[in-house]
Amino acid sequence: MKKIIALHFLIACFSTVQSFHAFAQKDTYWQQRAEYTMEIDMDVKKHQLSGKQTLVYYNNSPETLDQVFYHLYFNAFQPGSMMDTRSRLISDPDPRVGDRISKLGPEEIGYQRVKKLTQNGVALSFKEVGTILEVTLAQPIAPDSKAVFEMEFEAQVPVQIRRSGRNNAEGVDYSMAQWYPKMCEYDYQGWHANPYIGREFHGVWGDFDVKINIDKSYVLAATGYLQNPQEIGYGYEDAGQKVKQPKGKQLTWHFKAENVHDFVWAADPDYIHETAQVPNGPLLRFFYLKGNEERTAKWKQLPQYTIEAFQKMNENFGVYPYEVYSVIQGGDGGMEYPMATLILGDGSLNGLVGVTVHELIHSWYQGVIATNESLYAWMDEGFNTFAGSYIRGGENPFTGAYKSYFRIVERKIEEPLRTHADHFEYNSAYGMAAYSKGCIFLAQLGYVIGDEALMKGMKTYFDTWKFKHPNDNDIIRIMEKESGLELDWYKEYFVNTTYTIDYGIKEIKEAAGKTQITLERIGRMPMPVEVVISYSDGSQEMHYIPLEIMRGEKKIQKMKTILHTDWAWVYPSYTLTIDKPAASITKVEIDPSERMADIDRSNNVLTPEK
Ligand SMILES: [Zn+2]
Repeated sequence: MKKIIALHFLIACFSTVQSFHAFAQKDTYWQQRAEYTMEIDMDVKKHQLSGKQTLVYYNNSPETLDQVFYHLYFNAFQPGSMMDTRSRLISDPDPRVGDRISKLGPEEIGYQRVKKLTQNGVALSFKEVGTILEVTLAQPIAPDSKAVFEMEFEAQVPVQIRRSGRNNAEGVDYSMAQWYPKMCEYDYQGWHANPYIGREFHGVWGDFDVKINIDKSYVLAATGYLQNPQEIGYGYEDAGQKVKQPKGKQLTWHFKAENVHDFVWAADPDYIHETAQVPNGPLLRFFYLKGNEERTAKWKQLPQYTIEAFQKMNENFGVYPYEVYSVIQGGDGGMEYPMATLILGDGSLNGLVGVTVHELIHSWYQGVIATNESLYAWMDEGFNTFAGSYIRGGENPFTGAYKSYFRIVERKIEEPLRTHADHFEYNSAYGMAAYSKGCIFLAQLGYVIGDEALMKGMKTYFDTWKFKHPNDNDIIRIMEKESGLELDWYKEYFVNTTYTIDYGIKEIKEAAGKTQITLERIGRMPMPVEVVISYSDGSQEMHYIPLEIMRGEKKIQKMKTILHTDWAWVYPSYTLTIDKPAASITKVEIDPSERMADIDRSNNVLTPEK
């Protein structure tokens, strides 16, 4: 019996996935693939590395490629770079960057220099333009074919300014993010050879096989699985396993990771390495610097919170697909990478837990569902904020996001969600859009389609789009299928514009024993409207007015609900007729749930004149 049920379940899941594909980026969806093999020699005295990289690159696109691009992220950490200049010109710079890049000396700057590059054995010409390497191919790469790129490169690790770097304020020797020449992503929108200015990433899905040769005293943390724990030790060995480090001053750490779009590592001789197991989930690895009792006490408490967060995420948003996850003291803010995060190690326990939980949620929104962060930052930071608030729980866990949205609207510096992450005029407007409005996109969608459809949709979204690059159409199509409602208008207004929502109660009047309540749409963005009426006998009922272009209505179960005819968006007002005298009404309120992002709530409540 069990088998039959399981089979039915499988078929149901399979057909669901198929039907979603048929609607979203369609069966025309494709993505490139990259298989990296790297051998790295790290010089911990000069803070430089030299590397050999073999990249097997699969062109799964329908187009022939005659050029390719690589990111050279470390080049951003040089005086006069685009990142430096942008940081000095923007009116609200990230204080962690400020003018610090402009003051870096020759030994402190970062660089990545490509010494040699071949395609299928043929030498290529290439040009370094800031943080991008422009490469002209020796022979075009046809659709459904591959090319093998072999590269020799050198790099200097910058003093840590942001995310990546060495010798940061917390004393971590190496936080190695964005550290290797990385193929830019090519997708249905073409090349994404974006210079590194401040934020957000987009990478090619694939596999990494990385060998790092480094001074024996260093403990490493990295994306993926260590292949030679018996030669390394340092807490990677299984219980009782005998460790035999090879002779010599150096050790070669060999990591592999499959089905990821980036590879991060960090190294310090003072790392403590501890593990914890998520029941039915990944093994957690924690790396933090020893020698500080206060820090140690906090990091000892971190595993329990991390386990709990993984369990809640698995339960509500889809199952984390890898077998390991590393929480690494990187010494600067918090940043997500596949199967790992680099976070600040010090500060309050609350702060440490908050950052860890936020970054691990990126395993869902960025690590596994890899939206192009530059173009859809709100789909990873915002969905992350939503999931984090959701698993934290409480009455209305999203209140903070709404407040920050209202503040930016009031300052009149809001830009549409669809703005490229680097191109916002204000950092604060970017931060609000990505983290807060992206969260509201989902929280408010729950108001529009119902929470049940929303949460089912979030799981379907994960299962359908894991290990891929979805966009805003893809999430909307899933939510449409899950709710049975048409939602293109929601995306068009909320993502593409800065039109705001404002509904008000214009007047309440009595005629022939009935009450007429006139509502008005003041803001440009239309929404379905919920009006809760309270009566003098203490009872309450909800009056629900769907938006006509939704082509349906959500299911409401919480409160006695009266469904009214649709409100088409062109009409500025709408009159509700209630079969009771105005004298029996004590209060009329639009959206007491406060999940509609109504920018002026002062006109949402009215009491009939007695
Ligand atoms: Zn984040």
